[in-house]
Amino acid sequence: MNEEQVFAIEDEMDRVFATWDQRWRNVPDGASCCLCGHTHPFTLMGAGRVVFCQSCIQEIWGKQRVQGQHLGRRPTLLSPVPVDTNEHVLLTDLQRLWRAAGFEPGSAFAIGFDVGAYIVISGNFQ
Ligand SMILES: [Zn+2]
Repeated sequence: MNEEQVFAIEDEMDRVFATWDQRWRNVPDGASCCLCGHTHPFTLMGAGRVVFCQSCIQEIWGKQRVQGQHLGRRPTLLSPVPVDTNEHVLLTDLQRLWRAAGFEPGSAFAIGFDVGAYIVISGNFQ
């Protein structure tokens, strides 16, 4: 890995953490989705007391709450798994982290990391 690649990885890591920090600060402490009660701050959006989660926003737009998640990103040998949009947001954020660390999509690390994240997250944040 050359110096330019190292700087690119560090920049992406900074963007990932800045995104998470911004999401954390954008909703008040103890906020929850006004439609379903979801509380994870990384998936909430809104202003003041009106807060929606990503899944409810999908539904408002007439889209499915459930999306296919490619564990290890594409190309991967695994079929996409169905996850709620809120879980999809969290899993995709975590993918940005290993991607920023220089791991390739479809690599053993990427797939293993994503499977572990899926086991921990799936069904726990709806
Ligand atoms: Zn909601």
